[in-house]
Amino acid sequence: MKGTIAVGPGDGIGPEIVAEGVKVLKAIEKKYGHEFKLDYFDMGGVSIDKHGTPLTDDAIETCRRADALFSGSVGGPKWDYPGAKVYTNTAGLRLRKIFDVYANLRPAKVYPGMEGCSSLKPEKVKGMDVIVVRENCGGAYFGEPKKQWTDKGVRWAVDTMLYSEPEIARILRVGFELARKRRKKLASVEKQNVTETGKLWRRMAIEMSEKYPDVELEHVLADACTAWLLREPTRFDVLVMGNLYGDIISDEASTVAGSLGMGSSAQLHGLGTDEEKPWGYYESAHGSAPDIAGKGIANPIATIMSAAHMLEYTYKLKKEADAIDKAVARVVLKARTADIMEKGMRQVGSAEMGDLIVKEIEKG
Ligand code: NAD
Repeated sequence: MKGTIAVGPGDGIGPEIVAEGVKVLKAIEKKYGHEFKLDYFDMGGVSIDKHGTPLTDDAIETCRRADALFSGSVGGPKWDYPGAKVYTNTAGLRLRKIFDVYANLRPAKVYPGMEGCSSLKPEKVKGMDVIVVRENCGGAYFGEPKKQWTDKGVRWAVDTMLYSEPEIARILRVGFELARKRRKKLASVEKQNVTETGKLWRRMAIEMSEKYPDVELEHVLADACTAWLLREPTRFDVLVMGNLYGDIISDEASTVAGSLGMGSSAQLHGLGTDEEKPWGYYESAHGSAPDIAGKGIANPIATIMSAAHMLEYTYKLKKEADAIDKAVARVVLKARTADIMEKGMRQVGSAEMGDLIVKEIEKG
């Protein structure tokens, strides 16, 4: 099959790890006879430097022409500081809104043999395999009013956590559908004890659960959820939550599972039916890691697995996505980047990790 992918390497470690994702996509092309046209564009800080804006109209058109966007993270202290005219992350936020990729799937799983990478005791995380489904286009990151102002010499700031019934319904549906395909357990996460959005969210989760009698639904307060993930991460399967909670809790989940460098992400306009090929925005869940940028030591696995999600969700190439997952599982039994290094393993950099994963894909 033929496809067109918009590629935005981004800032910091972005170009280093996106290059490894592209390497893996090329291996998949070769082995399975596909053809992916890659259209590169600037986004984030690199785009501010070259074009004066984190996202140009041409960049948006490149994304529009493509089936999917595969990107690195953006940002860094050079561009993002209080008082900066424009933050780099407006690029990603705009793309989310333009393409309405309201469902952000963020898996966090522990590959066999990697239990020791977690900051928790290995037996606590053995078998951990969760997906955080984060609402991606609403809530506190987009609600209005959203501003800063000064009144009588006092500075104020407001963000608004705003959700409508359709916004909650569509993300809950993704949570239930995904749980149905997995271990049939859904945790709906909110703060219904203190927020009105939480109260509506919980009521709607209860109402929707009548249509999914095969899915076991539990309600978890967001603060308790952070604690449960530390105490017993294996109790969860799919977790569905609003934008702000999802941003925080998915980072916690991938760290518990071993490292931020393992946290992949797929931003989708729904799961799509088997016939549909939804436009998706695929990038790691972590940031641009300016502290290690340019050293060639970043873990590319989150980005490589995000490419695997692109094959699964946008191109419906499940076999190819599974081939990448299996290759990663085999490689981490012997080689590790610095963030997931353990005794007895060979330490490798980003490029060698990419090469090893490609070799495993070629072996099949
Ligand atoms: P970060 O995720 O970039 O880094 C946090 C820590 O994790 C750092 O110590 C970093 O070295 C480490 N880390 C992250 N990814 C790693 C990898 N693949 N391999 C090894 N170690 C890794 O978070 P931060 O430092 O808070 O943010 C840095 C910049 O990234 C900021 O400008 C922030 O706004 C931006 N950011 C962008 C996105 C995005 O574009 N989607 C998401 C989050 C943060």
